[in-house]
Amino acid sequence: MTIEELVRKDNEKLTLENIEDYRRMWSKKLSKMPKNSEIWPYLTDPELIEAMKTRGVRTESGVAPFAVMMKPYFCPGECIYCPSEKGMPKSYLSDEPAAQRAKLLDFDPFKQVEGRIRQMEETGHITSKIDLIVIGGTFGSYPEKYKREFFKRMFDAVNGVISNSLSEAQKYNETAEKRIVGISVETRPDWVTEAEVKLWRELGVTKVQLGVQAFDEKILKKIKRGHNLVEVAEATRWCRNAGLKICYHLMPNLPGSNPRKDIKMAKMMFEDSQFGPDYLKVYPAMTIEGTEMYEMWKRGEYKPYGEEQLIKVLKEIKAQTPVWCRIDRLIRDISKKWISAGTARTNLRQVLQKELEKVGRKCLCIRCREVRGGIYDTKIDLLINERESLGGNELFMSYENKDNIFAMLRLRLPLETEKLLFDELRGAAIVREVHTYGQVVEIDTTDGIKTQHRGLGKRLMIKAEEVARERGYKKMAVISAIGTREYYRKLGYFLEGSYMVKKL
Ligand code: SF4
Ligand SMILES: [Zn+2]
Repeated sequence: MTIEELVRKDNEKLTLENIEDYRRMWSKKLSKMPKNSEIWPYLTDPELIEAMKTRGVRTESGVAPFAVMMKPYFCPGECIYCPSEKGMPKSYLSDEPAAQRAKLLDFDPFKQVEGRIRQMEETGHITSKIDLIVIGGTFGSYPEKYKREFFKRMFDAVNGVISNSLSEAQKYNETAEKRIVGISVETRPDWVTEAEVKLWRELGVTKVQLGVQAFDEKILKKIKRGHNLVEVAEATRWCRNAGLKICYHLMPNLPGSNPRKDIKMAKMMFEDSQFGPDYLKVYPAMTIEGTEMYEMWKRGEYKPYGEEQLIKVLKEIKAQTPVWCRIDRLIRDISKKWISAGTARTNLRQVLQKELEKVGRKCLCIRCREVRGGIYDTKIDLLINERESLGGNELFMSYENKDNIFAMLRLRLPLETEKLLFDELRGAAIVREVHTYGQVVEIDTTDGIKTQHRGLGKRLMIKAEEVARERGYKKMAVISAIGTREYYRKLGYFLEGSYMVKKL
C-alpha cells in the first residue's frame, strides 16, 4: 500500500491526538516513517492539515500532550452505556490507540511515557514541555499507594533519572530538561472528596476531567450515573477553590433525552453559576454491545436520534459555548466496529463548522479562536469577562483581536466565607490557568502601553495582580505545574505548599 492509500483509508479516524499512532502503524506497512509532507496532502481535516503543514502536531504551542493509562481496576459506577472489556480499565476499549499502547506495555507508566518520548523525538517533535493526561476508569477509586507510585514513575520517565521518592522526582523536574507543564486526571463528581483533592495537589495534578454526561436528574437516574447535580456543583466548587482547571464530559443522545432537552441542558451547563466548565468534551452516546443500553436498544426501549438531529444538537452546543470555554473534543475517537447504533462520524467538527457558517453563526469557544503558534503583527485588546460562580467570582482575562485569542488567564476570586482546603490559599486570589497561544510583534493594549515582544502571559499576570489588589486580596496564588514553578519564581513568586504564591 502507498502512503496515500493508507491515509485515505484512516482519514475519518484521524485526530490531533492519535495521528502519531497512525503514523507508526503506517510506517510498519511502508517499512519507513512517513514525513509530515507525505501525509498532509491526503488529509481531509483542515485543522490537522494546518498542524501537519506548519510544524509538529503535538508540539503546537510547544507542549506535547501524552495520554498515560492506569491499570484495569474496579469502577464504582454502573453507567448503562459504559463498555467493559476484559483487561482494560472500565469504559476503555483496546482498539483505541492510547489503550493499545498501554496494554502492550502492561500499563507501566514509566514505559508508556518513555516510549512516547522516544516516538515523538523520532518524528522530530520537541518534547521539552510535557502535558500528562492520566486516563483509566475513575481515578478516585484506585488505591492511594498505586496512584503515588504511578505518578513517581511518570516523573522518573520524564526526568530520565530514577528518584528515591515522588517529592524528589518532582523537585528534579522543576529544572529538568523536559518539564511537566500540566497533569490531568479523570474521575466522577461524587469521588471528588477533600482527601482526594489534597492528594491530587501533592501529586502535581492541575486539571480534572469530570464525567457529568447530563444536566437532568431524571436522565442521570435513568442511565444509573449514581450521582446527582448537587454533587456535580460541589465537586466543581472544590476544584475551582483548589485552582484546578475543570473539564466536563457531556453526552447528548442518552435514553430519556431528546434534541430539545440536550440543547437546554447545555445551556444550563454554561449559564448556571454552579457549573460552567473551563473545558468540554462532548461524546454523543454510542450503543456498544455488551452494555445495558445496548439491550435497551435491542428491546426497542431506546432509540438514538439520527445523524441529522445529532448534528443539530452539536451545532447548538457550539453556538452557545461562551468565550471562556474550550471544546476539546466533539466525538470520541473510536473505531466503527464497536458501534451498533448512534454515530460513527469523526469529522463532525468540520461538518458543524460549515453548517454554522451557513446560518451566519460561529462557535466562540477558545479552540475555534486560538491562534496557532507563531508571531503576529496585529492590534490586540485586553478583555475581561467576569461571572459569578458558586463560592466566588471567575474572571477570564484575554488578549484578543477581532477574530482570534492570543493569550488568556483564569482568575478565581473566592468569597471570604468560602471553606478552602489549603492554608496557603487563605485570603488569596487564585490563578487557575495562564496560556499563551501566539506572540504579537507590537501590543497596542487598551491601557495604551506599547511593548515589543513582551510575553503576553507575563502581562496577564501583572494585570491579574492589579485586579486582585483592587479587590482587596492580599495574596496571589498560582496553581503551577511542577515544571512551570521556575517561571513564576522569576515573577517573584515562591513555593508554599503546592502553590506558587506572592504577597500583594
Ligand atoms: S463512572 Fe465512568 S468508567 Fe465507571 S461505569 Fe460510569 S462511565 Fe464507566
Ligand atoms: Zn469551538
